[in-house]
Amino acid sequence: MSMGNAVGQTRRVLILGGTGDARALAARLVAAGHEVTSSLAGRTQAPLLPQGAVRIGGFGGAEGLASYLSDNAIDMLVDATHPFAATISANAVHAATRAQVPLLRLERPLWTRPDGAVWIGAADMDQAAAALPVGARVLLTIGRQELAPFFPRTGCTIFARMIEVPPDLPPGWTIIAERGPFTVPDEIALLRRHAITHLVSKNSGGDQAAAKLEAAAHLSIPVIMVARPLLPPAPTVASVAEVCESIARIFRTG
Ligand code: NAP
Repeated sequence: MSMGNAVGQTRRVLILGGTGDARALAARLVAAGHEVTSSLAGRTQAPLLPQGAVRIGGFGGAEGLASYLSDNAIDMLVDATHPFAATISANAVHAATRAQVPLLRLERPLWTRPDGAVWIGAADMDQAAAALPVGARVLLTIGRQELAPFFPRTGCTIFARMIEVPPDLPPGWTIIAERGPFTVPDEIALLRRHAITHLVSKNSGGDQAAAKLEAAAHLSIPVIMVARPLLPPAPTVASVAEVCESIARIFRTG
């Protein structure tokens, strides 16, 4: 366990990050005097870096993460990864148990359908790809890692927005390389510019990417909404503020 300092007892917190919430959390915990390390997978070449220390790259599965927790005398593990990052979240549960380190998951609330919007639910990307009718002009807003189920879709015109563009995308796709957040007017303009008829989205939740849903509702464009993957149970809170409160409580009583 780490030593005390001027602001009280300093604790070592490892944040599994890669999200805006994780960056906001790192800033709050650094300001509270904790020793914070954020972990990024290393997927993006120019990531937005959080305050505090940063480590980049995989741990080598749950066992590797458990060793990291023990070797670095981590007092608290916070899983603030994206809700679709299912492998690292499962690893966090197993590693925390193995290393006997308390785990808290930050899971932002699901998006809910705005009044009047048309949402078509899909359990996964395969279902989402199958739900697109022939002739659709589709905007994919699902990142770049799960595009493969859409590759064989002929008969649709595909526009795909992502931060960094992978090689070997199908010819004929239009790539929009942009990083959000976007405003509702921006999103309406984009949907109109490309005469989009269908939007594909993960149910990521949060404020940063929600404008596209309002824009789609405004233009009566159906949204194929992909459900979140199931995660093993873990103590969970829904906001950065709640993580800070829980950590303060755990460290007071721990
Ligand atoms: P994933 O499928 O759950 O994880 C695959 C592997 O990547 C993990 O087993 C782990 O490797 C490594 N990894 C993932 N997140 C890590 C982290 N924060 N720090 C260190 N290693 C990590 O994850 P993913 O869906 O590829 O997401 C990767 C990162 O991008 C996450 O940090 C996530 O927050 C962020 N992100 C994901 C999405 C999305 O839609 N999936 C969207 C926005 C941001 P080892 O087993 O070797 O430890």
